[in-house]
Amino acid sequence: MMDEGGSEDLRLEADRLREALAHCEAERERDRQSARVLAQLHAHVKDFAVIILSPDGRVGMWNEGAERLFGYGAEQITGQTGALLFTPEDRAAGRQQAELAQAASEGRADDDCWLQRKDGSRFWASGVTTAIRGEGGHLEGFVKILRDHTSRKVVEDELQRLNATLDERVRERTSDLEEALREMGAFAYSIAHDLRAPLRAMSGFSRLLAEDHSARLDDSGREMLGRISSAAVRMDHMIEDLLAYSRLTRTEITCRPLDPRRVVEEVLSDLSAVIADRGADIGVEGEFPAVLGHEVTLRQVFTNLIGNAIKFARPGDRPVVRIRAERREDWIRLWVEDNGIGIPVEYHGKIFGIFERLHPAGDYPGTGIGLAIVNRAMERMKGKVGVESEPGRGSRFWIELRRPFS
Ligand code: ADP
Repeated sequence: MMDEGGSEDLRLEADRLREALAHCEAERERDRQSARVLAQLHAHVKDFAVIILSPDGRVGMWNEGAERLFGYGAEQITGQTGALLFTPEDRAAGRQQAELAQAASEGRADDDCWLQRKDGSRFWASGVTTAIRGEGGHLEGFVKILRDHTSRKVVEDELQRLNATLDERVRERTSDLEEALREMGAFAYSIAHDLRAPLRAMSGFSRLLAEDHSARLDDSGREMLGRISSAAVRMDHMIEDLLAYSRLTRTEITCRPLDPRRVVEEVLSDLSAVIADRGADIGVEGEFPAVLGHEVTLRQVFTNLIGNAIKFARPGDRPVVRIRAERREDWIRLWVEDNGIGIPVEYHGKIFGIFERLHPAGDYPGTGIGLAIVNRAMERMKGKVGVESEPGRGSRFWIELRRPFS
C-alpha cells in the first residue's frame, strides 16, 4: 500500500512528464515547419539564390535559384568553399571570411558586390548573409540570399558617372558659347565699324556735289541728292546705335553707389539744344536716393528715355517731361513721364526689342535701337525696366536699380 504523500508525488511527476512531452512535440512541429519552409525555398524560389553555408563557409544547401544564377549544380558545389562564388580579387582579399565574421558578430552582412559564375562571368549581387544560431546561441551556419542586380548597378554607375561629369560638361559648353558670342560680337562690331568709312564717303561726296554742282542739277536731281544725304545720315545714326548696343553687351560693367540726379542733370545738359529747340518743359522732382549702377550705362539709359519723352510729343504740343524717384523696399524706381502720344498696351513688350518702331521715320525719326539699349543696359546693371502708357495719355517709363548696401 502506498501512502497518500507517495501517490501525490507520482501524480506530480506524471504531470511534469506530460508537460515535457507536449513541449517536445511543439518543438518537433516547429522543426518540421522550418524544414517545410526550407524545402519550399529550395524548390520554388527561383529568382533568388538561397545558399546555406556551414560555420566554416562550406556550401550545404543550394537551391535552384543559386543553380541558375551561378551555373553550378548542387552536386558540384555542395561541400566546396563558398569563396568560389567570389571574384579572384575578393577571394585573395578574404572577402568571404570577412563577410561571415561580420554576420557572426552582428547577425547580418550585406552582400552587395560582384560575384563570379562557374563560367567566369560576373554579375552584381544584391543580398544579405545572416547567421543561423542554435539553442544556447551556438553558430550553426549561415544563410545567404541573393539576386542578380547587374542591370540596376550598370544604370546606377552610369548615372553616377554622368552626374560627376555633368558640371564639367556644362562649364565647358558655357565657356564655348561665351567664346562664340564674344567672337560674334567682335565680328559684328568690326563690320559696323568698317561700314562707317564708305558711308562717310557717300555723305561727304553728296555734300560736295550739293555745294559745288547743284546748279547743274534740276529740282528732281537736287531732291534725290537730298535723299541720298539724309539716308546716309540715318544709316550713320543706326550704325552708331548698333555699336553702342554691341559695346554694352561686350564691356565689363561694375556697379557702384551713385547719385542718379547728377546723371540726369548731365544728360539734360547734353540734350539742352534739343530741349530748347522743342521748347520742352523738363522737371526733375523730389529726392533722389543713391542707387547701385554704372554711370556711363545709366547715362545711356536716361539719354534714350528723356530723348524719347521729348521726341514722341503730340503734334503741336509742348513736351512736358517729369523725372522723379520712388523708394521700393530694396529698390529705387526712377520715372521718366511725358505728356506725349502714348503707346497701346499690346506694344509695351515689343518696343524693347531691337529695331522695333511703331511709327514711320517720317513722323518721328529714330533707329528703333534706343529702348533695346535701355533694356540691355538694365539687364547688365541687374536692374529692371517697364512702362505704363495708353495712347493719348502720355507714357511713364521706369527703371529700377538696387539701393546700395540693401
Ligand atoms: P526710336 O526712338 O529710335 O524709334 P526706341 O527703341 O527708342 O526707338 O523706341 C521704340 C519705339 O517705342 C518708338 O519707335 C516708339 O514707337 C515707341 N516709344 C518709345 N518711347 C516712347 C514715348 N516716350 N512715347 C511714345 N512712344 C514711345
